Amino acid sequence: MKDILQDLSFEQLKNLVVELGEKPFRAKQLYEGLMRGKRISDINVNPELRQKLLERYEDEPVKIEKTFFSSDGTEKYLFRLADGNIIEGVLMKYKYGNTQCVSTQVGCRMGCKFCASTLGGLVRNLTSGEILCQVLVVNAMYASGKERGVTNVVLMGSGEPLDNYDCVLAFLKNVTAEGGINISPRNISLSTCGLVPKIYELADQNMPVNLTISLHQTTDEGRRRTMPIANKYTIAEILKACEYYFKKTGRRYIFEYSLIAGENCDKSHADELIQLLKGKPCHVNLIRLNEVKERNLKPITEKEAYRFLGLLEKGGLSATLRRQIGSDIGGACGQLRAGYIKTNEE
Ligand code: SAH
Repeated sequence: MKDILQDLSFEQLKNLVVELGEKPFRAKQLYEGLMRGKRISDINVNPELRQKLLERYEDEPVKIEKTFFSSDGTEKYLFRLADGNIIEGVLMKYKYGNTQCVSTQVGCRMGCKFCASTLGGLVRNLTSGEILCQVLVVNAMYASGKERGVTNVVLMGSGEPLDNYDCVLAFLKNVTAEGGINISPRNISLSTCGLVPKIYELADQNMPVNLTISLHQTTDEGRRRTMPIANKYTIAEILKACEYYFKKTGRRYIFEYSLIAGENCDKSHADELIQLLKGKPCHVNLIRLNEVKERNLKPITEKEAYRFLGLLEKGGLSATLRRQIGSDIGGACGQLRAGYIKTNEE
């Protein structure tokens, strides 16, 4: 695979253009084209420069392979990378804007028991440019004409963002850069299963993105049963890191809690969760489990989920039950990619 031009910041692009014997102002044209999601071969720069770039860099690092349209407006994508790998993403349309969910790795090595992204392990990290290109190509479809482009980004596709820390950080810098697509850090959410040391590092970056923690259980023992990362870091350590994150960024943090039948959603769990989180500057996002057929875990009913939500609210927690959108176009959390790879292998 060639290098990815979209890995570069504007400054780095300027240096490259000079290194290739061109005037620095050419970098602006090039950067603007790239940020509009264009291929190198479609950008209006002089032919010699274009040729030199194409020798070294991928013309189309991320391509939409397939789009699934939901009746509620949600779109899911399978993206093809230059080396043939497939990743997935989602665009959710809300009144306030369009939120895109991006992947940060091909596969994942975290091994969470309920998640499809991790079924085949980690294939490779995405580069910062490959993460950025997911946003650029989707934005390009909408930002033209009257429609709004991508306004919000969540790092909740396949992969563990903090397991690919350097590339994710470079992505965050590039996606928020003023001359570029310029998405505010406040409109970006990074979700992690809890790589504690990296939460501290992120907190020190002066980049106030929203931090989301996949908690899913109320005790370390329960967490170790469903999430191998819990063997490394305790809930207490995670909460301490969250507190630090809040102190440094001023951002309230969010806990994801996927409701799994018989695992984590009895009244006792609600009580434990209230005990754990009460008074903290946080929000709890409940999600009904998306059933993954390779796994033997079941969701609870919507009614039961609302009952659990009611218990949390009564206990003084700020909480919501995430609306299930796009469910008519199947899968989430790695299931789209897993399904695609399976059908194409058969
Ligand atoms: N690796 C990151 C981000 C990826 S997943 C993380 O762990 O946070 C985004 C969210 O979906 C996480 O909270 C994850 O635990 C959750 N998730 C994964 N599989 C799921 C499933 N089958 N049903 C419901 N939520 C799931």
